[in-house]
Amino acid sequence: MHIAIVGCGQLARMMALAGWPMGHRFTFLASPGEGTDCVKGLGDIVVHTLEMEDKVLFEALGKPDVVTVEREHVNVELLATLEPHCAVSPSPAAIKYCQHRGREKTFLNSLGIQTAPFHLANNADELSAGVKALGFPVFVKTCEEGYDGYGQWVLRNDDDLDKLVAEADKLPEVVIEGRVDFCRELSLIAARNASGECVFYPLTENLHRNGILWSSLAPADAPADLHAKAKEIADKLLNAMEYVGVVAIEMFQAGDELIVNEIAPRVHNSGHWTQGAGICTQFENHLRAICDFGLGNTTNNQHAAMVNLLGIEAPKEIVSESNVQHHVYNKSLRPGRKVGHLNLASDDRAALETQLQRIRSSLYEG
Ligand code: AMP
Repeated sequence: MHIAIVGCGQLARMMALAGWPMGHRFTFLASPGEGTDCVKGLGDIVVHTLEMEDKVLFEALGKPDVVTVEREHVNVELLATLEPHCAVSPSPAAIKYCQHRGREKTFLNSLGIQTAPFHLANNADELSAGVKALGFPVFVKTCEEGYDGYGQWVLRNDDDLDKLVAEADKLPEVVIEGRVDFCRELSLIAARNASGECVFYPLTENLHRNGILWSSLAPADAPADLHAKAKEIADKLLNAMEYVGVVAIEMFQAGDELIVNEIAPRVHNSGHWTQGAGICTQFENHLRAICDFGLGNTTNNQHAAMVNLLGIEAPKEIVSESNVQHHVYNKSLRPGRKVGHLNLASDDRAALETQLQRIRSSLYEG
């Protein structure tokens, strides 16, 4: 099939790399000025211009069978103009829920899915009132466009609040969240195809550094009922949205409760370990879902882990370890930039955790 992907980053790259063996071909839609190094050589690249919408965009993309996205910050109105011409998966309506933190949380709560307590604020008065209602500390996040910790403030006291209130006329709409006293961060990657079949990967345990994913470990060491709870959340969400494709649900674990922080309507960094675990990867399952094929196996027999390469290259002695899979995105190095990742897998959980810690310290602590 001919698949068009909105975006030209590493997620588009890995979708295309998964699709080539299946005989799919790819076109990538770049925003003006967007870097395209990640997808070079993997398909045609079309740079979006203002007149490209509806049939003109469909034709500029080479009349694809299906259009998908590698990021949630896309113009959903533009995407919707493609719907009369080809499948667009996930749907613009589903993506729209995830583009606004307030809309997303309201939707989750309407399904009975727990989130952090929150208030929305558009101005200084609403900001102060929201903070007062929740009590310090609070997380203030822009409703739209924030990612990887950007567009986010932690307020611990009145001084922090006063500083942000002084800036409030420059702030876009924000969501104020009460702090969740979590013991760890987890995510669940799931897929649903157009026929309604759903599959769920096991819960993944994630470690962040400066708001950016640092490493993942799967399956998360958790009792069966926590895995079941996460699956129930994903099942409810996928079916309520009539979602098609892979989705990532980021959660906090507090006691034996799961509190949803964010939904990403796309393949996700915390699912990269699926490439090294001997199962159908999140990238292949996304393509299977949007092409309405049956979905692939998501149950790993081995333990798997992933370490991000954030602004660094991995040394030869690490990528030479026999169970290390090395992925590079063809991006130039910049501090903190996601330029690649390492996947590790082992039958021995304790050995894998030791190896993961050793590699993380060797990469980041010199
Ligand atoms: P986010 O941009 O929403 O993914 O948040 C980035 C990171 O900030 C998360 O991975 C958490 O470590 C932390 N965080 C965000 N929101 C909360 C919250 N309501 N309570 C506690 N920690 C949070």
